[in-house]
Amino acid sequence: MYTSSKPRGESPVSIIGAGIAGAWHALLFAQAGHAVTVHERSDARMTESTSHFAGGMLAPWCEAETSEPIIGRLGLRSLDLWRQHFPDTPFNGSLVVAHARDRADFERFAKLTANHRRLDAQALRRLEPALEGFRDALFYPDEGHVEPRRVLPELHAGITKAGGRIEFGSDANADDLDGVVIDCRGLAARDTEHELRGVKGEMIVVETSEVELSRPVRLIHPRFPLYVIPRGDGRFMLGATSIESEDTGVSVRSALELLGAAYVVHPAFAEARIVEFGSGLRPAYPDNLPRISVEQQRISVNGLYRHGFLLAPALAELTLGYIARGVIDNEVMRCA
Ligand SMILES: Cc1cc2nc3c(=O)[nH]c(=O)nc-3n(C[C@H](O)[C@H](O)[C@H](O)COP(=O)(O)OP(=O)(O)OC[C@H]3O[C@@H](n4cnc5c(N)ncnc54)[C@H](O)[C@@H]3O)c2cc1C
Repeated sequence: MYTSSKPRGESPVSIIGAGIAGAWHALLFAQAGHAVTVHERSDARMTESTSHFAGGMLAPWCEAETSEPIIGRLGLRSLDLWRQHFPDTPFNGSLVVAHARDRADFERFAKLTANHRRLDAQALRRLEPALEGFRDALFYPDEGHVEPRRVLPELHAGITKAGGRIEFGSDANADDLDGVVIDCRGLAARDTEHELRGVKGEMIVVETSEVELSRPVRLIHPRFPLYVIPRGDGRFMLGATSIESEDTGVSVRSALELLGAAYVVHPAFAEARIVEFGSGLRPAYPDNLPRISVEQQRISVNGLYRHGFLLAPALAELTLGYIARGVIDNEVMRCA
């Protein structure tokens, strides 16, 4: 990390996209005293964003199984920022369990990740009584989760409270905007970020009063981590596939795998009502790492891949540090 000699001053800032990346940028810039305008092409329900379909897990330790150390570094900083700005965010940990046949993968997951405790059946039942079918689990006590469809409106309200403006239904073009422009368009930024690709993630929302969970539960799966996240009011999100495809449908095979995982976590999910099938395209660069690209007054923040909720606060802080003091984080930023 180094500081460039050019201080950036307190310029007005336009942000394109009010998904998790744009929303965190707008919040931190507005709180730092910048005149912020956010342009979002969809309406306030944000159904055109990938963020709308996310699990919202803040799980840097579990994610270490498949991701680079940079995800952990930024993720840990983000946990602090979530705690600081949204003190009600639940940080009651996450659990990893496995079907008996996936025992070897469970042990591998334990080896590749840190900051967990092994719970035996009794300790697991004390923590999460519904998981009585498992003989043990890995518990990551410091992980948290947010409900994307609740937290995005909270972020948007926070931006307005800090003096920023959000214009929904505004399909913006960076060339038409003056001052500092921060492009947080996710996959739609492919016209300028040519290396981006979409990685499909499918999810299902179900509803039942027969199962109670207090924290996300991951089920070890040979191809991608499957999980059940409690959403409150008897609703659960089942996620998520990870498929190199930009088709946005939900396949029968994926639905079977997601529903099957829920059934393994608790057989009462068999009677749950299906509320929604959905999918989002995760914006990813070839290395699956996030990137802040700076070209004079234009900044692009993209490639949040499967970690948007985990990384957005820390990335926004880095962008702010660059604009305010010229600080450059060489691992994440590319300056033209
Ligand atoms: C099923 C699934 C589960 C996931 N689970 C997790 C998880 O548990 N934890 C985690 O950290 N991450 C998770 N992710 C990843 C996360 O959702 C993404 O990394 C993140 O949503 C990307 O955010 P973004 O703001 O870059 O893009 P988006 O959320 O897509 O936001 C971009 C916004 O820009 C707007 N836009 C585009 N073009 C324009 C324009 N010209 N003018 C105005 N607005 C424009 C779009 O309408 C959109 O709202 C998951 C993803 C999926 C699909």
